[in-house]
Amino acid sequence: MPRKAPSKKISMKACKNCGALVPKESNVCPVCGSTNFSEDWEGIFIVLDQESEIAKELKFNKKGIFAIKVSGSYTIK
Ligand SMILES: [Zn+2]
Repeated sequence: MPRKAPSKKISMKACKNCGALVPKESNVCPVCGSTNFSEDWEGIFIVLDQESEIAKELKFNKKGIFAIKVSGSYTIK
């Protein structure tokens, strides 16, 4: 069964440090300031409210759009 077409069609890259997704033209991660990016990422999750129960549960205190996996490792544990 074919996998559901991800995210790679979207012209984004993921911050290797925090997993934030940024446009390919960006040079600096808006979330953590890192300049280390990877185009090898999978899945997307969006944190609209870092005070939400889910964000707390994931111990994720940043707002934005993130990749679930970057270079083969999960951003959320
Ligand atoms: Zn980052």
